[in-house]
Amino acid sequence: MTIAKLLFINGHWTAPSSGKTLAVISPIDDTVVGEIPAGDAADVEAAVQAAAVAYKGPWGKTTGKDRAVVLKAIADQLKKRKTELAKLETLDMGKPIQEAEWDLDDAAGCFEYYADLAEKLDKKQWSPVDVGMDEFKTEIRQEPLGVIALITPWNYPLLMAVWKVAPALAAGNTLVLKPSEMASLSCLELGALAVDAGLPAGVLNVITGLGADAGAPLSEHPAVAKLAFTGSSVTGRRVALAAAKNLRPATMELGGKSALIIFQDAHVNKAVEWAMFGCFWGAGQVCSATSRLLVQSRIAEEFYAQLKKRAEEIKICDPNEPKCRLGPVVNQSQYDKIMKFIEDAKAEGATLLTGGSRPAHMAKGRFVQPTAFTGVKREHRLWREEVFGPVLAIASFETEEEAVALANESEFGLAAAVITEDEERGRRVAAAVEAGIVWIGCSQPAFCQAPWGGMKNSGHGRELGEYGMASFLNVKQVTTYKSKARWDWYPESKL
Ligand code: NAD
Repeated sequence: MTIAKLLFINGHWTAPSSGKTLAVISPIDDTVVGEIPAGDAADVEAAVQAAAVAYKGPWGKTTGKDRAVVLKAIADQLKKRKTELAKLETLDMGKPIQEAEWDLDDAAGCFEYYADLAEKLDKKQWSPVDVGMDEFKTEIRQEPLGVIALITPWNYPLLMAVWKVAPALAAGNTLVLKPSEMASLSCLELGALAVDAGLPAGVLNVITGLGADAGAPLSEHPAVAKLAFTGSSVTGRRVALAAAKNLRPATMELGGKSALIIFQDAHVNKAVEWAMFGCFWGAGQVCSATSRLLVQSRIAEEFYAQLKKRAEEIKICDPNEPKCRLGPVVNQSQYDKIMKFIEDAKAEGATLLTGGSRPAHMAKGRFVQPTAFTGVKREHRLWREEVFGPVLAIASFETEEEAVALANESEFGLAAAVITEDEERGRRVAAAVEAGIVWIGCSQPAFCQAPWGGMKNSGHGRELGEYGMASFLNVKQVTTYKSKARWDWYPESKL
């Protein structure tokens, strides 16, 4: 299959101004399957202008109800094209096909959810605020901000974009989306699909290209009213600084090194499965992966034995096979980075429990075995840094206080999880951990209705839920002087 794509600007497929392209290399077998445009500052300019004009056009005057119709139509298109788009996602970045299909369902559900919130927004306009003075009537309006820049990663190429696109459109903004150069195909499709669904031209523009060439000029653009970024903490810092230079708000969804704490009263068999799902789902290329595992020492040996057995049973194969549970990692540099983490963990003295290399039966592609190390110490690289691969760092603990302290001893604060049969303890630990998301009795489920985001170096601001839409709205107070009397601060002299 050879795919040749163009940029999507102002409702049209548009060649990049430089004429340059980037190869699309499938991680399944390293073959070049197509090309995407290498957009640059000139293309960003065209896209921002298109979004600015579209904002001044009919879209800027729509009600939430009008926008809900379009959002629902986009959801319908995503459902209709689910199989085709899921295959494209798998080809582009290697996730197992059932995970890709799940992403498509989530993407459609996200548009439907924000369609509902867009309608509800109409009812919230002109909501009164009691200011405690009869002379004044104060009301609140919630309005779009204008042109929004969205910069997204490759691990959930379509879904991470949709988490921003759906609420930002529901709020009435116009958008320029810059997906990751490592997996842009589904986002380009989204641009065209949205126009087919009735979104006016210029409301959603999609610019592909390298971060430095396309992402940087977008994040620096003075006509951008707000930035929403998902990616690594290193890039997030750059984007936040660019936004700060223009005094623009920027929400940051960044990396993580989340802890899963398993207490000795846990059902070991169930806990092992959540531990695997927490770090091997998505081949560990998940921001919220619970890649640090803390097991209470009394059950540690039994836990490790079961984990080893079950991790070695995970089906690793061509991700297009429906039963695949672990596909390749996204590209060669990610593969090399993961392997270096594994080598460093060995050199630093952690004990390899399982995995640690390329699966023997997968000669081609960038496959990494599900890997777990025990005895990982807080000073080890594997304990501190985000791997973004299927590599689990395990340590044991004695007391609840020790487990919470270890979980919190991280530069990141995205997610945390706890497994215990003691409901009180679960809630106590949930309250004590420094994170934006906590799972009790599980790891990883994400719902578009519930806020998502982190603290510390995992970023700030929230996506999803009502918070996710609030961050794309300008809250405007309108205060009316109602009294018939003069204000009388400057007494008038008699003529
Ligand atoms: P990345 O930071 O390398 O790239 C993210 C995006 O930023 C890409 O589109 C890239 O082209 C762009 N970019 C790169 N340099 C730029 C610059 N100078 N200016 C503007 N844009 C630039 O991240 P990635 O490798 O694509 O994604 C993996 C990271 O994303 C991991 O750290 C992961 O934890 C994080 N992530 C976080 C969440 C979350 O919700 N918190 C979700 C998914 C992924």
